[in-house]
Amino acid sequence: MQFFAPTRVYLEKDCVANHKNELLSYGSRAFIITGKHSSKANGSLDDVLSILDEASVPYLIYNDIEENPSVETVTKAAGIGKDFQADFVIGIGGGSPLDAAKAIALLMANPQEDAGCLYESKELTALPVVAIPTTCGTGSEVTPNAVLTRHAFKTKKSISHNIYPKLALVDGKYLSSASSNLIIHTAVDALAHCVESRLHTKANVYNHMFSEYGLSLWGKLVPVLEQISAGPDAVPSSLSEKDRTPADLLSDADRETFMLASTVAGMAIAQTSTSLPHAISYEITYNQGVPHGMACGIFLAAYMDEYARNNAEDVNRVLSLLGFPSTDDLGAFLRKILGTVTITEAECDLYADKVMANTSKLSTYPFAIDRDGIVRIIRRSLTITA
Ligand code: NAP
Ligand code: ZN
Repeated sequence: MQFFAPTRVYLEKDCVANHKNELLSYGSRAFIITGKHSSKANGSLDDVLSILDEASVPYLIYNDIEENPSVETVTKAAGIGKDFQADFVIGIGGGSPLDAAKAIALLMANPQEDAGCLYESKELTALPVVAIPTTCGTGSEVTPNAVLTRHAFKTKKSISHNIYPKLALVDGKYLSSASSNLIIHTAVDALAHCVESRLHTKANVYNHMFSEYGLSLWGKLVPVLEQISAGPDAVPSSLSEKDRTPADLLSDADRETFMLASTVAGMAIAQTSTSLPHAISYEITYNQGVPHGMACGIFLAAYMDEYARNNAEDVNRVLSLLGFPSTDDLGAFLRKILGTVTITEAECDLYADKVMANTSKLSTYPFAIDRDGIVRIIRRSLTITA
């Protein structure tokens, strides 16, 4: 049994400013990796820039990271970062820019390598990474993983290297600009991390501390998610309807709890990895364009049913921590807040074949599972048309 969690985490309001000296200690030329718009809109980018400007630290911003970033994107960005001779990388945004920052930091530190090294098992180190999340789902700020889209294989996969950020600065205020759907999808990703980590080949008592605490925290967020999924009209507000935004539906304390649940869930999967719902999700994200958290959450109830065929006790433990009487109730709740996904019979067959070929992910499931088991999870979770 082992435990390893080398990232220093601050979760508090204004933590970027509060811990500026620590942020500055990781290098003297910064390469900032972020998405197209959101970090500018939610203030996280300006918070970082004001610190770098005040300390006269040179920086370059790469703000062209797409959702589910590709190998091609990180390769292009790493080339720009190398030319700039940055010596540390700051990722700001959702899981996409944070994962991209890790892969970019690896490529920048190893100029002799090309993109092929991302998926080779070699001993390579990366430049230091500082991670500033602005969504409440992936936990990438505390995990060693960096999931990239591999167009050559028409799917997504985490790179072969473990890159833990040196520093994670987690501030719920950056969620103020997030839509209800972004909060819901990313919060469900955090749920998937807790469930898959708790029901996992590598689950142990250390990791239970994180997955079980994350599940009980998530259970407390269920009424909040129900409220925001019902939309602004369902919420009493002193603001007139036209002035309300999704942000008005959440208190500062809610936002901090969403961030905490996400970070704790990240700490859980950092010890185990994710499992079958994530493996199947990569197919419907790549092919159907379903956002990551929704793509994972839609499979959770059926995954738990499958698991319960071998170990009902652990599944009941997960349900009781969440406060749901049965997997049917959990599944109905998730469908209500997420909606449904439709695929064809041919896609169902293809996705089952691809998951069966993913032997490393299959090994995360503690029992034997055959293709029929995978098809059962898919069929119970999605609408399938001819
Ligand atoms: P994301 O793909 O990073 O971002 C989704 C969208 O949300 C983007 O359009 C982004 O806009 C916007 N956005 C981000 N923060 C916002 C905010 N505060 N307000 C308003 N809009 C905001 O979403 P994600 O779900 O966080 O990350 C998903 C990725 O993480 C997937 O590739 C998944 O595979 C990966 N992942 C990694 C791990 C891990 O352990 N490393 C775990 C789970 C998932 P901009 O583009 O303008 O920024
Ligand atoms: Zn995930």
